[in-house]
Amino acid sequence: MIPITAIDVQDAEPLVSSVLRSGLIAQGPMVERFEESFAHAAGVPHAIAVNSGTTALVASLEVLGLRPGDEVVTSPFTFVATLNAILEAGATARFADIGDADYCLCPEAAAAAVGPRTTALMPVHLYGQPADVHRLGALATSRGLALVEDAAQALGATVDGRPVGSFGLGCFSLYATKNVTTAEGGVITTEDDQLAERLRVLRNQGMRQRYQYEVAGHNYRMTDVHAAVGLPQLGRLAQLIDSRQRNAETLSKGLTGIPGLRLPAVVDGRTHVWHQYTVLLDDDAAVDRDELAARLGEAGVGTGIYYPRLVFDYDCYRDHPGVPRVSPEDFPVARSVARRALSLPVHPKLTADDLDEIVAAVRGVLGG
Ligand SMILES: *Cc1c(COP(=O)(O)O)cnc(C)c1O
Repeated sequence: MIPITAIDVQDAEPLVSSVLRSGLIAQGPMVERFEESFAHAAGVPHAIAVNSGTTALVASLEVLGLRPGDEVVTSPFTFVATLNAILEAGATARFADIGDADYCLCPEAAAAAVGPRTTALMPVHLYGQPADVHRLGALATSRGLALVEDAAQALGATVDGRPVGSFGLGCFSLYATKNVTTAEGGVITTEDDQLAERLRVLRNQGMRQRYQYEVAGHNYRMTDVHAAVGLPQLGRLAQLIDSRQRNAETLSKGLTGIPGLRLPAVVDGRTHVWHQYTVLLDDDAAVDRDELAARLGEAGVGTGIYYPRLVFDYDCYRDHPGVPRVSPEDFPVARSVARRALSLPVHPKLTADDLDEIVAAVRGVLGG
């Protein structure tokens, strides 16, 4: 079976062992090294390491001073953590449809969703493709909103040469399946010295100096053990991205011209880091998405459905005070994409034979 993800962290063994031997295993010097290296890799002055991508999002909303009832405009087509973080911060979600080329928050739809209580925009750089941060940033500026980028899937992606996570507060995930991992972990990036300082305080129980508490904080600290798992990957980030980009290019070349199959687009001026390589099945394709997934599985090709439903479309959110009621006509693009999207393996561990096999298996099912 060709797996949809492959985790490759063995090169961290010596560094992890050195942390274990040192006896300093909680947040310490290795987290500091990790933060420096991450800031360099992400192209931003400050990187604050935390214990998950979710807490990175929560801390970002909190540090901006969101109050109960404040609204955050975001995409309905995302991992559930985006929504859970908004709710955890005590804010209210407001959804706006996605674009049909990048599957990310659409600037026009976001503008229409902004209301008097809106305080932040939270685009998601989905699958590793940057959202239209230029226009979303302009919208944020003109309406006096903060910009929090859910960059969980997009470390290293750029827009006109500028890295995601540098347009607003950048929130990255280092979960096991992300392009760079510490097993569990997250990072917040910012160009703002004061926000960086306040995030460091918020992460550590609101404490700047021992037992001097400035705000009601959290324990969002990363451990030195986890930092050691991730540090070597930052050193080969360019290689990791390059390998994903080459795999995506090979897949797109091989899959061109199959009837009913829409290949992922790379939008002009943006670089895509291919956390997922996601195709769409049109209604005139030989089989539907679920059938294609099943048949590829039989042929030994692992696939993933990210995400089968819109993020609010579960009973636990139905009467949630932080989740607005929506109608079935809302978000037509997001609904359509959620019904038709299928992700194929694109990770750096794929061999040339694997890629050939994936292409042949898809052609075998869809013809063309
Ligand atoms: C992974 C992910 C998160 C959450 O990150 P965790 O590290 O799992 O908490 C948030 N948003 C998106 C889009 C993600 O893919």
